[in-house]
Amino acid sequence: MTKRISIIGSGFSALSASCYLAKEGYDVTIFEKNKTIGGRCRQFKKNGFTFDIGPSWYWMPDIFDKFFADFGKKTSDFYQLDKLSPAYQILFKDEVITIGDTLEKICIEFDRIEPGSSISLKKFIDKAATNYDIAINKVVLKPGISPFELVTPETAMRVDQFFKTISGDVRKSFNNTKLISTLEFPVLFLGAKPSKTPSFYNFMNYADFGLGTWHPKGGMYEIIKAMQAVAESLGVKIHTESPIDKINVDNSSATSILSNGIEYKSDIVLSGADYHHSETLLDQKYRQYSEKYWSKKTFAPSSLLFYIGFDKKLKNIQHHNLFFDTNFETHAEEIYDNPKWPSDPLFYANFPSVTDQSMAPANCETGFFLIPIAPGIDDTEELRSQYFDIIMSRFEKLTQQSIKNNIIFKESFCVKDFIKDYNSYKGNAYGMANTLSQTAFLRPKLKSKKVNNLYFTGQLTVPGPGVPPALISGKLVAELIKKYHSN
Ligand SMILES: Cc1cc2nc3c(=O)[nH]c(=O)nc-3n(C[C@H](O)[C@H](O)[C@H](O)COP(=O)(O)OP(=O)(O)OC[C@H]3O[C@@H](n4cnc5c(N)ncnc54)[C@H](O)[C@@H]3O)c2cc1C
Repeated sequence: MTKRISIIGSGFSALSASCYLAKEGYDVTIFEKNKTIGGRCRQFKKNGFTFDIGPSWYWMPDIFDKFFADFGKKTSDFYQLDKLSPAYQILFKDEVITIGDTLEKICIEFDRIEPGSSISLKKFIDKAATNYDIAINKVVLKPGISPFELVTPETAMRVDQFFKTISGDVRKSFNNTKLISTLEFPVLFLGAKPSKTPSFYNFMNYADFGLGTWHPKGGMYEIIKAMQAVAESLGVKIHTESPIDKINVDNSSATSILSNGIEYKSDIVLSGADYHHSETLLDQKYRQYSEKYWSKKTFAPSSLLFYIGFDKKLKNIQHHNLFFDTNFETHAEEIYDNPKWPSDPLFYANFPSVTDQSMAPANCETGFFLIPIAPGIDDTEELRSQYFDIIMSRFEKLTQQSIKNNIIFKESFCVKDFIKDYNSYKGNAYGMANTLSQTAFLRPKLKSKKVNNLYFTGQLTVPGPGVPPALISGKLVAELIKKYHSN
C-alpha cells in the first residue's frame, strides 16, 4: 500500500521534501495555514507593485540548479535568472562601496578603499571557495545525526576553522573598517554575530563574491511557483487555509493530523513549520525539547519590514542597498547580547524595479526596507512608525533626495506578524542561528526521538537558515523517511 505522508507547511523545505517524496511514490499532501503557499517567501501585490514579502537575495544558484535537475528540469524551464550588476551597494556615512558582478571588479573597489587589499581579498576568497566546495558537497548534505558526519579528511585538516571566528579572520587581513563590515555582511544570513560564527563559514563570502547575486525575473516567488509546478506534476496535493491544530499519536506513532476539525489519517507526518510550534501540536510527553531548551538557543533576528509603493523613480539606488552608516557592533549587541530596539539601526533597502520593470508600474519604484531586530521584543504601531521616520530620513540624506511625499502606500510587518502568520518562535524571521554550538548534529533533529514516524524540516533544523539550506533540508529529510519507511 502506498504510504500517506502529511506535510505541515509549504515553505521551501516542505515543498522540497514533497517533491522528493512524491518522486519516490509516496502519497503526499501539504497542509498550509495561510491563503497562499511559500512560507516566508510569499508575495504581496498592490496597485501594480509586486513585493517579495521575505527573501530577496538569490545566492548559491548551483543549489537551485541541483534541486530542479533532480527532477529532470532546469531553472530556466520556469524562470529567467539574471545576474545583478552591480550585485549591491553599501552606503557608509561618507562613502559608497559598490560590489560588482565579478571578483576582478570587486578587487578594484577594495584597492580604491584600502590600497593593496585586493591581494588579501583574493587569498581570502580562494580559501572561501575551497570551504564552499567542502561545505556544499561534503558537510551540508548530512542529516545531522552524529558528530562524525563533520569529520572528513578535508574538515579534519581545517579543525582550527571551527574554533576561530569570521570576525577574527577578517580583521587579520584587513584594516579598513568599511571593508571589514563588507566581508562580515554575508555571514549575517546565518543568523549570528560574525564574532560568534566559525571561520569555516567564510564559504558565504565565496557565495557572495564568487558566485554572485541573482534575480529571478518577476521576483523570488517565481521559485515557489516553479516548485509548486514540480510538486503537482509528481502528484502532490496542496491544501491552503488548512492550519494543523493537532498531531495525534498512538503508542509512539503518529496516526493522523487535525485540520479545520477534519482528521487526516497519516502513515508519516512531516512538519516544515517552525520546529518549536510543531512540537506544541503534540501532547507534552511526545515533545523532545523543553521551553528552557528553546529559550537558551540563539535565534536569528526578527525584522521590522516596510513595503512601499513610490510614485517616481528613485536616484542613487541599486537593486540591493545596505545602509551601514551606523555602528555595526552596537546594532549587533542590541540584537543578541542586550535585546532591545536598536539605538541607531543599520538597515537594508531592496528596489527590484531598478532591474526588473515587471515589479512596478512605469516610472514608479517598489521599495522593501528591513531593519533586523531582536526576536521577542515589543512590537507596537508607535515603534513601527518611529523607526519608519528614522530610516526614511537617513535614506533621504544618504541618497540625496526627498521621498516621503512620493509614497503611494506603505505596509509594515514585524514581530507580531511573524508570530501570527508563521507561528514563529518569538517572531524570529529566519530560524535558529548557525553558531558552533548550534551546528550540524547539535541542531534540532530531523527525526523525532519520541514518535517513530514523525519528522521535521526547515530553517530550525539542519543545515540552517536561508533558502538554499531549506531546499537541502527537504532533501535530507526525504532521504531519512525513505530509509526508515520504504514505500
Ligand atoms: C524578511 C526575510 C528576509 C529573508 N531574506 C532571505 C534572503 O534574502 N535569502 C535567503 O536565502 N533567505 C532569506 N530569508 C530566509 C528564508 O526565507 C527562510 O530561511 C526560508 O524561507 C525558510 O523556509 P522554511 O521551509 O524553513 O519555513 P517557512 O518559510 O517558515 O515555512 C513554514 C510554513 O509553515 C506554515 N505553518 C506554520 N504553522 C502551521 C500550522 N500549524 N499548520 C499549517 N501550516 C503551518 C507557515 O505558514 C509557513 O508557510 C529571509 C527570511 C525573511 C523572513
